[in-house]
Amino acid sequence: MASREEALKELKEKLAYTPKPVWDQVKEEEKEAIERLAEDYRRFLSVAKTERECVEAMVALLKRHEFSERPSARFYQVFRGKSLAVFVAGKKPPYYGLRLIATHIDSPRLDLKLHPLYEDLDLAFFKTHYYGGIKKYHWVARPLALHGVVIKPDGSRIRIVIGEDPKDPVLTVCDLLPHLSRKVQGDKKLSEAIPGEKLNLLVGGLPLVGSAEDKERVKLSILKLLHEKYGLTEEDFVSAELEAVPAGPALEVGLDRAFIGGYGQDDRICAFAALAAVLEIREPIYSTLVLFLDKEEIGSDGNTGAKSRFLEKLVYDYLKIWGVSPQGDTVLETFLRTRAVSGDVTAGMDPHYMEVHEKLNDARMGYGVVLTKYTGHGGKYMANDAHAEYMAWLRRVFSEAGVVYQAASMGKVDEGGGGTVAKYLALYGMDIVDLGPPLLGMHSPFEVAHKADLYMTYKAYRAFLSAGD
Ligand code: MN
Ligand code: MN
Repeated sequence: MASREEALKELKEKLAYTPKPVWDQVKEEEKEAIERLAEDYRRFLSVAKTERECVEAMVALLKRHEFSERPSARFYQVFRGKSLAVFVAGKKPPYYGLRLIATHIDSPRLDLKLHPLYEDLDLAFFKTHYYGGIKKYHWVARPLALHGVVIKPDGSRIRIVIGEDPKDPVLTVCDLLPHLSRKVQGDKKLSEAIPGEKLNLLVGGLPLVGSAEDKERVKLSILKLLHEKYGLTEEDFVSAELEAVPAGPALEVGLDRAFIGGYGQDDRICAFAALAAVLEIREPIYSTLVLFLDKEEIGSDGNTGAKSRFLEKLVYDYLKIWGVSPQGDTVLETFLRTRAVSGDVTAGMDPHYMEVHEKLNDARMGYGVVLTKYTGHGGKYMANDAHAEYMAWLRRVFSEAGVVYQAASMGKVDEGGGGTVAKYLALYGMDIVDLGPPLLGMHSPFEVAHKADLYMTYKAYRAFLSAGD
């Protein structure tokens, strides 16, 4: 009897695929490395809350690791302050193909409108227009910080961060009290309960000294304050990019501190992991290009997003740096031979919402980086569907480097879906697949990642960038 059980167990071990948590598969010293990376990440996430701030924080790290802005073996290029490209020269010239990771550094938020400031009932507000896929009820009744820039007509730049220093005030969108919200909110669909036009930030309540007949004294008082502190006039909002984001730092979550919770982990967790990986890459076999892109959350349109042809220009210029005159089809050939990873997050399974998840094929928190062969929706529509050959090659790369990965898709068939930049880069003919950690509460103001998945994402990116054929 015992021998029969043993035989079954042996057969199962040999043939069946049994996912295991990262924590069961790493040694003590790797657990320490997981904690160290998570702490660096937590600090990064706490300060990099806009695409511009991400670029700034990343450039500071690149400089500290002897990356230069001038073309050299390890250099970077900033595009319009919102996108970043990092190159590491390989042993082979770029026309043999690149090892490319593309991540995005924009996240859902509330952007100020062009004419944001108004007063009603002696209260001053900023009007907003949300950016990306938000659930509007997430954005009420919480402290919000204002991050961004104002550019004056003379080109001078005013950087604004209000609400992060403990001494700073914060802004907020007030919700309606339950006593009065039964009909106006409670009887409505969740998606309609809070209209976008009500997502206005409370910014003031002190009228300027004057008489009660003088109109808009609170608004004027706010304008005076903005002028005194930043030199702004009301028209300056026209040339500003001010984003309301959740205030406060990223935090450890759980009594055992297994998780990092914070705003903007889609997709700054992949951006951070890719940066941590590329900082360590020296003389890889293939030349490396890591991209940190903007505008993914609104469809990758716009000249700093993945659909922009500045990507072609980057590669064109890179070939020239190598002394290659990129004539005819050299640029296209470089793209065709490139192996790429779209570094983006996916949904981790939440046991409370198994009605949308498919247990066998969705991602588990703490089970490692997720290899997502295809995205899209409704019959893989709009999907990048990576080829089996490419999946097989990555399996080998991961196995050789000790990367704990899980292969997963997002949600039940026909339950919903989504896309990443993968399909836009696939246009160039390169092999590309999605690779990143799972999150809980994705696209919420407080997304949750497992520290072990962050670490395996970094490890997977490092292995991918260093890999040969
Ligand atoms: Mn994303
Ligand atoms: Mn997203």
